[in-house]
Amino acid sequence: MSNPAPVATVNDHGLERLRSGHPWVYNTDLVRLQGEVAPAQAVVVRDARGRRLGAADYSPNSKIALRLLTRDAEQCFDADFFRQRIRAALAYRQRVVRDSDAYRVVWGEADGLPGLVVDRYREALSVQILTFAMEARRDLLLRLLEEELRPAVLVERNDSRVRLLEGLELRSGLLKGASSQVEIALNGLSLRLDLLAGQKTGGFLDQRENWPAPLRYLSPEAEALDVFTYQGGFALHLARHCRHVEAVDISRDALEHADANAQRNGLANIDWIEANAFDLLRQYDDDGRRFDVVVLDPPAFAKSRSALATAERGYKEINLRAMKILRPGGMLVTCSCSHHLAESRLLDIVADAANDAHRTVTVVERRTQSLDHPILLTVPETYYLKCVLAILR
Ligand code: SAH
Repeated sequence: MSNPAPVATVNDHGLERLRSGHPWVYNTDLVRLQGEVAPAQAVVVRDARGRRLGAADYSPNSKIALRLLTRDAEQCFDADFFRQRIRAALAYRQRVVRDSDAYRVVWGEADGLPGLVVDRYREALSVQILTFAMEARRDLLLRLLEEELRPAVLVERNDSRVRLLEGLELRSGLLKGASSQVEIALNGLSLRLDLLAGQKTGGFLDQRENWPAPLRYLSPEAEALDVFTYQGGFALHLARHCRHVEAVDISRDALEHADANAQRNGLANIDWIEANAFDLLRQYDDDGRRFDVVVLDPPAFAKSRSALATAERGYKEINLRAMKILRPGGMLVTCSCSHHLAESRLLDIVADAANDAHRTVTVVERRTQSLDHPILLTVPETYYLKCVLAILR
């Protein structure tokens, strides 16, 4: 690392944000940057009066110019700093994760490691690097993960488009081991995943604790509909408990994965349906089809604040349709993974839909993402997943 450390000065707006406990400074709040920043080097952060606020990673190409690593500006960013952060993240998982050998080990800002995401699938690791500075430390991070977690298989999923905002190229591949196919045990199911296929880093671990949540409220005679099933997370859990499950997704590839896992677990009571959920829900309503439980877990309709109005119409539409095909006493499991859509807003939309459908809704549980995706109270972006269980009269 070169000396002396470069210094970033932030304006009052940036200062206020850092003081609120948020680690980001936007480039519009960066007043000046003194000194040359080597790619893997942290910069000292100061306010306009010269007070030291901490040390941060600098991103030359992103709107998020600084991501605070520590509030201690004297800290040294050697291997030991990153090793301790990885150990702390792992210790937290060991404390909170139950019934799964697949979980997120490191989740960026929430673990004080902005730009690094690491998922563990039993003996395999899937690594994603999302910022300029972390990319420059890639070799160090991979070595530390190797030493701390001793994976038999290592894949990198650096194919997220978020990397383009940082000026980083997209790439993915197997770095260690013979195959990216892994087997995991989760909530008593045995699942097979391909860490290099799939839309995220292999599975959707953030819904893991929600998958079994509806079961205790359902009878063994229940007929279930899992809409936006992806690789069948809710459907596989429902099938172990309910008489019959229909699971819908627009992606044939996802459904084929899901079906293979159903067979692996001896579950023969699921119909996998390739369809557009909006059309199918309308069709089922027209046909007078009825279910005892409907799960709605769409992709993030609101990827940005500006997309919120359109997104809200989408959420309203699917919730209304789902209510129309639920039997009296039936359960709605309705999710949103858009950070921008607050839980209170989702509940308002569900209430609106209930009024239109002439149904009365009792909220049974309000849930969120699995505990291995920790919510940092001062970083609102870390709270994104809402999962509401409701009973309809
Ligand atoms: N419920 C899943 C995660 C769902 S992710 C779980 O618990 O793991 C969202 C899914 O919605 C993706 O698999 C995507 O293929 C699917 N999808 C997106 N648009 C769709 C549409 N219009 N109709 C049906 N499925 C859609």
